[in-house]
Amino acid sequence: MMLRLQRYNLDVIYKRGRELYVADALSRAHLPSTDQAEDMEEYEVMVVDVLSSHRVEELKRETLADPLCRRLAEVVSAGWPDAFREVPRDLRPFYAMREELTSDSGLLLRGRRFIIPHSLQHYYMQQLHQGHPGLEATKRRARETMFWPTIYTDIEREVSRCAPCNALKPHQPKEPLQLHDIPDLPWSLTAADVFEWEGKEHLVLVDSYSGWFEIDRLSGTTSATLVAKFKGHFATHGVPQQLMTDNAAYFTSREFREFARKWDFCHVTSSPLYPQSNGLAERAVRSAKHLLEKCARDRTDIDAALLSLRNMPRDGLPSPAQCLLSRHTRAFIPMTKAMYSPEVETRVQMALTQVRQSGKAYYDKSARPLAPLRAGQTVRMQTKRGHDRLATVLGTAPQPNSYQVQAGDATYVRNRRHLLQTPETYVPDSTAGDPPAVAVIAHPRSPQQDSVGPELSQGQRPVIFTRSGRASRPSSLYEDFVTDQLCDVLAH
Ligand SMILES: [Zn+2]
Repeated sequence: MMLRLQRYNLDVIYKRGRELYVADALSRAHLPSTDQAEDMEEYEVMVVDVLSSHRVEELKRETLADPLCRRLAEVVSAGWPDAFREVPRDLRPFYAMREELTSDSGLLLRGRRFIIPHSLQHYYMQQLHQGHPGLEATKRRARETMFWPTIYTDIEREVSRCAPCNALKPHQPKEPLQLHDIPDLPWSLTAADVFEWEGKEHLVLVDSYSGWFEIDRLSGTTSATLVAKFKGHFATHGVPQQLMTDNAAYFTSREFREFARKWDFCHVTSSPLYPQSNGLAERAVRSAKHLLEKCARDRTDIDAALLSLRNMPRDGLPSPAQCLLSRHTRAFIPMTKAMYSPEVETRVQMALTQVRQSGKAYYDKSARPLAPLRAGQTVRMQTKRGHDRLATVLGTAPQPNSYQVQAGDATYVRNRRHLLQTPETYVPDSTAGDPPAVAVIAHPRSPQQDSVGPELSQGQRPVIFTRSGRASRPSSLYEDFVTDQLCDVLAH
């Protein structure tokens, strides 16, 4: 009882019963027992039962050994100065809560919460975060069990550096869409991708200006097979200024680089591990797969379907044939002779701009830009197992919205969305056992450029990136691109 009342400053005045004009609550709602010993017993249970006696003894010992706690206990027992300025500087954080502070047998309490001496704070912080609850849950647990003046900022720091929590943080939000450059000529910006349908590999090659796409069934996925297909299409439509692909091995081989050099087109690879940045090819793959699937279901001719589709006006845009060939091609619907006469479409670039900007506006509604990263900053790289690997930022990478990061002995290129900022400290040995690497090529580009950017100038040189080489494409999403063997491939 004494201890409980210690936090109050009571003035007890005796009044005779006849002077009590209004019945006081306590006289009507008294406790059933007046046994003081019982009351003391209850209090002992409340304090000691919370922790094992071993922990209580430890807490007492450390509280008594802690100079700040000793001074605090003295002030709690002797009474606080009336003015804040008279309070010793190191005790000032406790002044606002002085009414709640008590000391008992070497323990200090704020209300029902133990005040933890400095030597035990780290240990108890780990106990509060056991099971890795989130930041707020950890604070809630602290709020009902223990206290020291910097407890909440200490918890924030500890949880923000907790490796298991950081590794399993949810994916970062998508970033605002970066619009591809709008081409001003047919068959100037093209993109290609290889996809599997019904167990067979197919190549899709699409023109950004017209939306015209070609589909080829492949007999294999060697660079030679692909080069042969590309040559066929380039012979028909001309050589594009730019071909955009992902970083698959058959696109990054020496043979493919040689093909790009001889046929004089700029080969651009997408942001590593971020296939969305090759959105043009991704959309073409989707269209091609739908077409193949539908033709298979109604057993129609895929070439007839392609002929028809290429003459189909698109939403807000002329048909692919009109954009690419400036004419309708003869198909299965009768048309007047005049319809087959060439007629140049002049509004394509403007219409494309409008279509893409309205698409961007829709996409960006749920997107949020991520803060740029600085060299030397510690980050966590996203892997199949979450944000699993600590790395340090080396700088921006040539690929769009990507950074070069160092983890262990290797250097990687990652899209910004796959790099999570963390206040943890990068430890260089944390990536032992990285998989072996194979060569991947990408052209150097400024990070501000979009995934389909302007043509590279003659003086710029492609750069080799090496990466681990798994053949399965979907599972290669988080494979690591290693860029520590940068070399000049044009010199060979
Ligand atoms: Zn944690």
